[in-house]
Order: sequence, then structure tokens, then C-alpha cells
Amino acid sequence: MAETRHTKVLIIGSGPAGYTAGVYASRAMLNPILVQGIEPGGQLTTTTEVENYPGFTEIQGPDLMIKMQEHASAMGCEIIGDIITDLDTSARPFKATGDSGTVYTTDAVILCTGARAKWLGLDSEEAYKGFGVSACATCDGFFYRGQEIVVIGGGNTAVEEALFLTNFASKVTLIHRRDELRAEKILIDRLMKNEKIEPLWDHVLEDVLGEDTPKGVTGVRVKNVKTDAVSEIPCKGVFVAIGHAPANELVKDVLELHNGGYVSVKPGTTETSIPGIFAAGDLTDHKYRQAITSAGMGCMAALDAERFLAEQE
Ligand code: FAD
Ligand code: NAP
Repeated sequence: MAETRHTKVLIIGSGPAGYTAGVYASRAMLNPILVQGIEPGGQLTTTTEVENYPGFTEIQGPDLMIKMQEHASAMGCEIIGDIITDLDTSARPFKATGDSGTVYTTDAVILCTGARAKWLGLDSEEAYKGFGVSACATCDGFFYRGQEIVVIGGGNTAVEEALFLTNFASKVTLIHRRDELRAEKILIDRLMKNEKIEPLWDHVLEDVLGEDTPKGVTGVRVKNVKTDAVSEIPCKGVFVAIGHAPANELVKDVLELHNGGYVSVKPGTTETSIPGIFAAGDLTDHKYRQAITSAGMGCMAALDAERFLAEQE
């Protein structure tokens, strides 16, 4: 028979937001349960060096996440390897159903399910992820000092990434599938004025080119969508910036959302549109999307949940 567990606070997700919420909720004596999901440790387990998490000049992403897990666990957070497949928010206590069959009833929920960069889906893109192909300029731009880089996309993210990458790269080619950007005008103005950036209109990426020893990108093959002409551009880095998709599947029909699917929170808090449900990290944040901002929001969510539960009593 399926097990039912009750907790005061259920934390869904095990990235920086989830584990930080776990630390704070444990220290508030709320005995939280944290369900890790399909990717224990979250997005940072998919990268190598992290150089911008305070306290660590350099640390491997997976190592940082193990430290966060150990920290939450040491504070008393119960960490469970399960995936929440359904969340019933219609009545309190809320009811979350795990893939394992376990039913978690809870007085408050902290959603920390993160977001995923969208990828083009090319085999060569997959093959060179972490070896020249990236979806995070803030994370990886520093590794391309003096190199030529291409950025794929035409939205705010692509333009911001291209502008940011000019701090390191000798040249940035912005490859967009149309001849018009959907980014904000102010960003487009900055892009057009930047002498290091060359837009390449009406082109799509056909393949990432590279070598195996040492493994790395050497260029890209692109196609002009109007003429079908194929050409190659030498480069060391390929930044795919075609949008992010928040992991909102559990709540997309019940919570208020913004910017195409991110969970809305009351400004300055982690309160969602349903009292008792809090959201933190990349799930709510289309703008910063960093480990440290996610951790900060995880802290806020635990404090908000503590206050909410105290008010209920
Ligand atoms: P995530 O890390 O996205 O974690 C989401 C968690 O939710 C996962 O554990 C997942 O298993 C869980 N989950 C999802 N659905 C469910 C479910 N239904 N049930 C249970 N659990 C669920 N940021 C930096 O600051 N510095 C960097 O150097 C850096 N490098 C990066 C490199 C790469 C390749 C990528 C992709 C991102 C990088 N980032 C970096 C961004 C950083 O990883 C994210 O901002 C951060 O991880 C977001 O944390 P989060 O806790 O919101 O969610
Ligand atoms: P986006 O606005 O959805 O733009 C995605 C871009 O990638 C579009 O130009 C799109 O082309 C292109 N694209 C999508 N799929 C593609 C594919 N398969 N092949 C080639 N190109 C593809 O995503 P975003 O730029 O990440 O922005 C997401 C949201 O966050 C937006 O609401 C944005 O305003 C917001 N944001 C805000 C800021 C800020 O306020 N500073 C910063 C970043 C993001 P088309 O144009 O042809 O569709």
C-alpha cells in the first residue's frame, strides 16, 4: 500500500534554491522534507568549473551541489530521492504524489523546480556541450578570452549574451534565423553600436564543427534560410540562447505565471498566487538565473514559509 508522509514544509527540487531552503527550514525546526527530482543537485551538476559562487574561487558544479546537499542534511532536512508527479493545491494540507507512490501531505510547499535552457537538438551540439557549446555566457564566457564566438538566437537573452561576451571575445557573431530581432530596442541599439558584434541574419546552425584531441569546437556550419547557401564560420565557442523553459509542469494551470511560464511571486517575497505555496530560483526568475540568486531565493522562501506557518497557528 502507498505510504503517506506528512510534513510542515515540502521542498520540491534539489538545486541551490531547494538545498538552501532545506538549510533554513531545518534551522527553523520545521523538519522539512526535500524531494530531489530527476536531477539531484540540479543544473550545476551538468557543468564543470563554477567560479562565481562566493566562498569558492573555483569548484566543480557537482562538488558544490554535494556540499549543499550535505549541508541541508546536516541541519536536519530529510532528503528523498523521488519525483513529484502531481501536486494538489486545491485544499490544505496540500497533497503531492511521488513517482514512488508515496503521498506527501504538507502545510506549505516550496517550489524549486528550476528551468531548462532550450537546445537546438543537433547531435553535434550535444557532443560538444561543455567543450565549447554552452547556454550560459555568465558561467562560461570567461573561458573564451581573445577567441571568436558565435551566439544563436534573436531575443533578449541572445543579445545580452552577445554583449556580455564582448568582454572576453575578440569577435562575436550573432546568428539569427530571421532578419529582425525580438529583443528590446535598447538592447538592439547597444548591439548595433558594438564593433565586436557582427549579426548574421536569416541563418540557422546546421552543425557544430570540432576536433577530439583536445576535444573542442573549431567552428560552425550555417545555412542561409533564404538561399540555402551553406558556409562555415571558425569559432571556439557556441552559445545557444534560444530561450529557457521553466519547469512549471506541476503548477502551470493553478499559479499565476509571467514571461512565458515563470511562476509569479509577490515582489520582494517568494509568495505565489496561492497562500502557502512559495517559489524560488530559476522557476520564478527569467532574468538572473544564477546559483547564488537561486540560493538567496531559497532562503527567502524558507523564511516566508516559517512566517506563514506561524500565522496559521
Ligand atoms: P535547478 O538547479 O534547475 O534545479 C531544479 C531541481 O528541481 C532539480 O534538482 C530537479 O531534479 C528538481 N525537479 C524538477 N522537477 C521536479 C519534480 N517534478 N519533482 C521533484 N523535483 C523536481 N550559475 C552560476 O551561478 N554559476 C555558474 O557557473 C553556472 N553555470 C551553469 C552551467 C550550466 C551548463 C547551466 C545549465 C547553468 C549554469 N548556471 C550557473 C545556472 C545555475 O545552474 C542555475 O541558476 C541554478 O542551478 C538554478 O537553481 P534552482 O535551484 O532554481 O534549480
Ligand atoms: P525568447 O524571447 O523566446 O527568444 C528566443 C529567440 O531564439 C528568438 O529570437 C527565436 O527566434 C530564437 N529561437 C527559438 N527557437 C529557435 C530555434 N530552434 N532555432 C533558432 N532560433 C530559435 O527567449 P529569451 O531571449 O531567452 O527571453 C525569454 C524571456 O525572458 C522573454 O520574455 C525576455 O523578454 C525575457 N528576458 C528579459 C531580459 C531582460 O529583461 N533584461 C533578459 C533576458 C530575457 P524568433 O525571433 O524567430 O522566434
